[in-house]
Amino acid sequence: VKIEEKLYQNRYIVDENRPHIRIKDEAHCAACTSKACTVCCPAGCYSTNEAGGVTLATDGCLECGTCRVICQDSGNIEWDYPRGGYGISYKFG
Ligand code: SF4
Repeated sequence: VKIEEKLYQNRYIVDENRPHIRIKDEAHCAACTSKACTVCCPAGCYSTNEAGGVTLATDGCLECGTCRVICQDSGNIEWDYPRGGYGISYKFG
């Protein structure tokens, strides 16, 4: 089974207008040379944008915490779990 097919099994309840992850300072992302978040996120939530910065779309977030760790030195990501009842539901098996 391909990873994309596995990911498709997950279900999400998106908390509209209340993203659980936030980029604190967009200018910092524009100046960041590695933009590691755009590579490391398994759900592809981070992408580079036309302004040379980073765009974050949290809808498909797997709540793995990788971006929080990878950006730890800069501390430019504000990260919380979604509030109760929202976020991802994994299908196991
Ligand atoms: Fe991507 Fe994981 Fe960060 Fe969610 S927690 S945005 S899946 S790296």
